[in-house]
Amino acid sequence: MESCMNLNKEARKSSAKRLVDKVAVITGGARGIGAATATLFAENGAHVIIADVLDDPGATLAESIGGRYIHCDVSKESDVESAVNLALEWKGHLDIMLNNAGIAGFEGSITSFDLNQLTHLLSINLNGTIHGIKHASKAMIKGKKGGSIICTSSAAAILGGLASHAYTISKAAIDGLVRSTACELGVHLIRVNCISPHGVPSEMLLSAFRRFKNGDVTAEEVSEHIGKRASLLRGRCATTEDVAYAALFLASDESGFITAHNLLVDGGFTNANSHMS
Ligand code: NAD
Repeated sequence: MESCMNLNKEARKSSAKRLVDKVAVITGGARGIGAATATLFAENGAHVIIADVLDDPGATLAESIGGRYIHCDVSKESDVESAVNLALEWKGHLDIMLNNAGIAGFEGSITSFDLNQLTHLLSINLNGTIHGIKHASKAMIKGKKGGSIICTSSAAAILGGLASHAYTISKAAIDGLVRSTACELGVHLIRVNCISPHGVPSEMLLSAFRRFKNGDVTAEEVSEHIGKRASLLRGRCATTEDVAYAALFLASDESGFITAHNLLVDGGFTNANSHMS
């Protein structure tokens, strides 16, 4: 893990800035993958708006990267619209929308599946993404300069048994939504892609492990567990920065001919699962 963080630091120092003057909205940007991406985008010259429900960490991070914070519950369409409008008021355009906010699912058997819990989870993971694509694309179409919309899916959308049924459903729906909207929006030079991470020891994953184990776990324990069992790159699990760099590529013009794509950030786990011990 340490060597990977050092590598990222080296890459940071040597890369030219890749998002100069681009304006980005990042939902769920207050912590975890979203926070790492907000930081990396800002280091690459982007003006970043963090849209989250965690006001204190969100506002603190936004200030530290020269960005803006807005309280935004992605399940509420008007909140997401306000986040996009803030970008337009602040800088006059929106270039990048990262629909990253998400919550983990509830565990449980299909025999006791609770549709009310599913509705709640979908209101954030799926509806939040729909709201983001809808309002970002409206702004980008008006701006006539195209744009990059990125949605955070999950390897769980592809491999069964990685997460709860509800979470799996929500992320599989995002994969379909990305392909579908990419077809419509390509004519406006708006690219729509998703990133599918696996096994990043964020607060979301730690809390899932705590529920599963019915006790406390440390980030180190979870990292070691994943590094041993869920990555071809043995001994190492994904970091928030691994995912942030994938988002940086999809946000930048370097990926200008890539759309409707699902970029796995999973250490090879999804495609090589049958070879794992
Ligand atoms: P995290 O819990 O650290 O971050 C999630 C962020 O989303 C938090 O800042 C949270 O406040 C925000 N959020 C939650 N509900 C919200 C709402 N209604 N409105 C606005 N913001 C809200 O977890 P993370 O791992 O960084 O998750 C980021 C994304 O990555 C999620 O979509 C998650 O499903 C996805 N993901 C994570 C992993 C992993 O292994 N950690 C794997 C695959 C996909």
